[in-house]
Amino acid sequence: MPQQIDIAAQLDVLIKLQGLDTQIYALRREKEKKPQELAAFEAEFKEKDAGLKKAEADFTVLQLKRKEKEGALSGKEEQVKKLQSQLSQLKTNKEYSAMQHEINAHKADKSLIEDEILTLMDDIDKAKIKIEKEKELLSQEEVKLNQQQKLVKAQLEEIEKKLQQLEIGRQVITPQVDPSTLKKYEKILRSKNGLAIVGIGSNACQGCNMNLPPQVINQVHLKKEFIICESCTRFLYTNEPAE
Ligand SMILES: [Zn+2]
Repeated sequence: MPQQIDIAAQLDVLIKLQGLDTQIYALRREKEKKPQELAAFEAEFKEKDAGLKKAEADFTVLQLKRKEKEGALSGKEEQVKKLQSQLSQLKTNKEYSAMQHEINAHKADKSLIEDEILTLMDDIDKAKIKIEKEKELLSQEEVKLNQQQKLVKAQLEEIEKKLQQLEIGRQVITPQVDPSTLKKYEKILRSKNGLAIVGIGSNACQGCNMNLPPQVINQVHLKKEFIICESCTRFLYTNEPAE
């Protein structure tokens, strides 16, 4: 360590720098969490969107079934008409009765199909109502998602603004730190989640809570050299006068 470095003054500057870096790391963590705040809203929106698509698909299936049944119904009607027109050409009672029987069977089928169509029409009405309801739910969810997106965007802009200000503050302070000390500080900062210099309250490192030997505490008070916590490698610092 070069003689001309004033350790006490350097430690004071590092403490100031740590004050800014603590804020910077907190803001970065906040920033990283922001996409999660949107995820729940996006998932809800997707779910409602899927709900609407399902309702629309169900409606289409019912419409197709109805068309199919209507086709079958007109087929039956044709058959009844055709057989009825043939009735007059029959010669025996037996033939007549057989055909009448056949006609009645077709009429009975027709009646069943008509009932099925009525049930389908009822289901189609319900499906239409369901679609409207799903559309309403989706649009409510869209409003919520948009609001949340706007909120998060504004919060991110605010965070960016604060980060820029803090970076400017850093640029003012860092030239006051001896370059090799700054390099060391920044290395610890990166590896120790944004905390590079800590106090020694209650005779323990406030970074890792390990008890410090009296000799180390004494050295921290003397401020003749930089003292590093043996356990977590952070710079140790105290503002209290030595006992
Ligand atoms: Zn420690």
